[in-house]
Amino acid sequence: MIPFLDLKELNRSLAPELHTALTRVLDSGWLVLGQEVEAFEAEFAAYCQTDYCIGVANGLEALHLILRAYDIGAGDEVIVPANTFIATWLAVTYAGARLVPVEPLPHTGNMDPQAVAAAITPRTKAIMPVHLYGQTAEMAPLMDLAERHGLKVIEDAAQAHGATCHGRRAGSLGHAAGFSFYPGKNLGALGDGGAITTSDPQLAERLRLLRNYGSRSKYRNEEAGFNCRLDEIQAAFLRAKLPLLDGWNQRRRQIAARYDAELGAAGLQLMQEAPGHVSARHLYVVRSPQRDALQVALHEAGVQTAIHYPVPPHLQPAYAGLGYREGAFPITEILHREVLSLPMGPTLDDSQVTAVIDAVKAVSARMQPAPAGPLA
Ligand SMILES: *Cc1c(COP(=O)(O)O)cnc(C)c1O
Repeated sequence: MIPFLDLKELNRSLAPELHTALTRVLDSGWLVLGQEVEAFEAEFAAYCQTDYCIGVANGLEALHLILRAYDIGAGDEVIVPANTFIATWLAVTYAGARLVPVEPLPHTGNMDPQAVAAAITPRTKAIMPVHLYGQTAEMAPLMDLAERHGLKVIEDAAQAHGATCHGRRAGSLGHAAGFSFYPGKNLGALGDGGAITTSDPQLAERLRLLRNYGSRSKYRNEEAGFNCRLDEIQAAFLRAKLPLLDGWNQRRRQIAARYDAELGAAGLQLMQEAPGHVSARHLYVVRSPQRDALQVALHEAGVQTAIHYPVPPHLQPAYAGLGYREGAFPITEILHREVLSLPMGPTLDDSQVTAVIDAVKAVSARMQPAPAGPLA
């Protein structure tokens, strides 16, 4: 079976570096908010082309704390993609603000700036674009809207470590950004982890308080903060991996280029890279009206795939209280019915890529041609 993502192999290949990092932390005896976190924050800020990085417990808390630090909460509206992983929505829910979901552009899956413009009200405080599948959202029009309406743009960069838009890195494109280091992300810890990047000194200062009980010095609490810290051990592991990220993303892009070149002819719809955008290729997503049959057939042919995501947030039981019905976000719902993520990751070798391409072509040729989807 060709794995969807061989995390075990990726981490095993780094065993010596990870052991060195572990030894360093053991020798220091310091486990929470110390030199490793501080050093990683400096290194990741430099990587993302921002002035500051604040290590936190995970990606969801990164987004949540940014909203808190901007005092966005009850009575405020935050515009989010309908087409995203539920964490983007949960961050807004945690903060107590109102979710205003908008539809994506079908060819990238990312937030449609025109839909965002139409959703702005006097209560809107922030726009939270997600750089879905590793490609940055259309940030220039979103930043224009934000400027005109006095809004914050908070990037959900959990899938886009290292992606660029006209040469600028994900994490530096909005006012602040949340990253996740969940193990399967392009830069993954050996457990949970997250970070916020920003070049706003006041925001950075407030975030350092909020992640640590609202405390700058021990047992003095300036505000009711949270316990949302990045562990020293995870920071040490992340420092071992960060220098390899660009090479890994390069390999992902090579694989994506081969898929792009060979799979269009197999009757699948491919997602597109927009001009000026260099995707981190976190996921390689194709669309098929016969997605479920395709997935089963590929599994039988020895190719493991995944679906990102099968049910959109507005149709999850968790958000039943918002009262959305099927059909509320038709483009989002079609994408959720049609998307399939093919094997992708830095350890996938050329023969495996060839085997995936051959399997997709063979399986597609056997399947009944379906009518083109409404988004064709
Ligand atoms: C993974 C992910 C998150 C959440 O990150 P965690 O570290 O798992 O909390 C948020 N948004 C998107 C788009 C993600 O893919």
